[in-house]
Amino acid sequence: MDFLPLNKWLPNLKRPLVIAGPCSAESHDQMLSTAREIAKIPDVRIFRAGIWKPRTRPNCFEGVGEEGLKWLSDVKAETGLLTTTEVANTQHVELALKHGVDILWIGARTTVSPFAVQEIADALKGTNIPVMVKNPVNQDLALWIGALERIAGSGINKIAAIHRGFSTGDTSKYRNLPLWKIPIELKSKFQDLPIICDPSHIAGKRDLIAYVCQKAMDADMEGLMVETHIDPTKALSDAAQQVTPEALGAIIEGLSLRTEFG
Ligand code: PEP
Ligand code: MN
Repeated sequence: MDFLPLNKWLPNLKRPLVIAGPCSAESHDQMLSTAREIAKIPDVRIFRAGIWKPRTRPNCFEGVGEEGLKWLSDVKAETGLLTTTEVANTQHVELALKHGVDILWIGARTTVSPFAVQEIADALKGTNIPVMVKNPVNQDLALWIGALERIAGSGINKIAAIHRGFSTGDTSKYRNLPLWKIPIELKSKFQDLPIICDPSHIAGKRDLIAYVCQKAMDADMEGLMVETHIDPTKALSDAAQQVTPEALGAIIEGLSLRTEFG
């Protein structure tokens, strides 16, 4: 598999690439007010928001759907941030492309399903849009690699892996155990593959985010995707783990890291 380094996706990139934004798009106002604050943090280049939310149980907030894609394009027009959202099927891919989303990601509950990943890969043929592939929910490195191979098989070379922790059934201070040896083994097999850490879904609570971010930097990961909300306690999903834009700025300031690529 051929992977283009992150600093070839984005010019003038310094490490880490920071992706920030709410777990879910909730309203135009929530998206724009969050994005305006995030845009003031120089390291943030990409704005994230889930439009279709794969919830573990039904009857939870399942996302605003296509309307949220218009809000994402307003975020881009107003702030200049690139945008990313989660896709789980062909229809999501087609709508995200239609609305000009810059980067797509595949969620942990989708990476576990080869049929779903193949469907997405087929819908992406001929695009070369960047795709980030989260690890599967369970600790199965081969399944993660298989999803990366399916996306690479559609001709895309702007691919990153996102480490979001693993659900093992064990109780611990984490929502999803980091099991750092798994992404480190992935990197040892594919040295050019950029790895981005999602501390939010690993930690499950905001007090642990800074600690997990530093661990990711120490493990030489190249990016961070941090759920950030203008008013986290009112978030419609993942309220306990989202941070304010101000807290995100402080977390990034506090990191010790290397800033160059290569
Ligand atoms: C998310 O990023 O909000 C999300 C649903 O993450 P994951 O697929 O890692 O659970
Ligand atoms: Mn989330």
